[in-house]
Amino acid sequence: TDQPISTDALIIGAGPVGLFAIFELGLLDIKCHVVDILDKPGGQCAELYPEKPIYDIPALPEVSGQELTDRLLEQAKPFSPQYHFGHMVTGLERRPDGNFAVTTDGGLAFDAKVVVIAAGGGSFQPKKPPIPGIDAYENSSVFYSVRKMEAFRGRDILIVGGGDSALDWTINLAPLANSLTLLHRRDQFRASPDSVNKMWALTDEGKVTFRLGQVTGLKGEGGQLEAVTARGPDGEFEVACNTMLPFFGLTMKLGPVADWGLNLNENLLPVDTEKFETSEPGIFAIGDINWYPGKLKLILSGFHEAALMAQQAFRIVHPDERLVFQYTTSSTKLQKKLGVA
Ligand code: FAD
Repeated sequence: TDQPISTDALIIGAGPVGLFAIFELGLLDIKCHVVDILDKPGGQCAELYPEKPIYDIPALPEVSGQELTDRLLEQAKPFSPQYHFGHMVTGLERRPDGNFAVTTDGGLAFDAKVVVIAAGGGSFQPKKPPIPGIDAYENSSVFYSVRKMEAFRGRDILIVGGGDSALDWTINLAPLANSLTLLHRRDQFRASPDSVNKMWALTDEGKVTFRLGQVTGLKGEGGQLEAVTARGPDGEFEVACNTMLPFFGLTMKLGPVADWGLNLNENLLPVDTEKFETSEPGIFAIGDINWYPGKLKLILSGFHEAALMAQQAFRIVHPDERLVFQYTTSSTKLQKKLGVA
């Protein structure tokens, strides 16, 4: 078996609060790996409201969910965080040496000195379409996300849905696929106009087939899909395919956080307001996932929590060093870390 990836801190969740934690930890010489089940950073800001303006981020009178995400990524950059997208953290255990063993559903393993749970409202998980017998095909012929595009080369793919994910993957997988059909119940899409235009262009070139309709059933054996039946305006029809990718949106579920033996209070992790530590020393919880008297589920609260959490994380990661409080404005040490001095 492979060696686990060693890291000072493992951050669960790349929402705004997880991203700012990279910065606060970085200032204190704590290196981070970050895991998120989404295929991109930003958490709720990027997934639920990328274009909506936020008005209560200090000193940014108006900023969209996506722009805030982009700025947080830029701010974290000097600390070279390593991101692992498309992975759900499933396992979290203390190792005999006091560090933490963290594992993901995609087979990653980490050995971390501290763990920062910035899991927000929980992990974003795909909504399953209500198709009878779909479970039998999952992970062999039916996939709810694309981890590695190469895995889909040469396949006969049916993509179902009309949102950004359905359109983006239609565009990205068309060049690799043997055939690609996009099925949607309407010929209107809830996706960026640019993607919609690109998709129509691919149908004009004969690289993508668009069908109007809804899936009614799956045909195949032993988890191997052979065809999908669908109903459209002109009745039932069949699409021959060996791979189906349904994109029906995401819901937030608490997920594995509940399985790690940490104290929970109504699906939130109670923390103290000095260190933002959970019931387990060395495991911190910041942002929407935590609870303490007076908690507000606001981004700015999560930023403050990240700064205080980092102070305690420093004591665990660098037990023999003295923590000196410094301003970024005047400390050349901090400025060197930021690459500006
Ligand atoms: P999240 O943004 O929820 O990110 C958590 C991330 O962790 C997710 O990406 C999730 O997939 C990941 N994750 C969870 N569990 C796992 C796991 N086991 N493995 C891998 N990944 C995992 N706040 C404001 O301050 N101002 C506003 O104006 C504002 N407007 C909002 C408007 C809307 C429509 C919504 C929905 C929210 C709004 N909020 C606003 C709230 C704000 O978005 C949240 O407070 C903020 O996103 C919390 O950040 P977070 O990093 O704690 O969690």
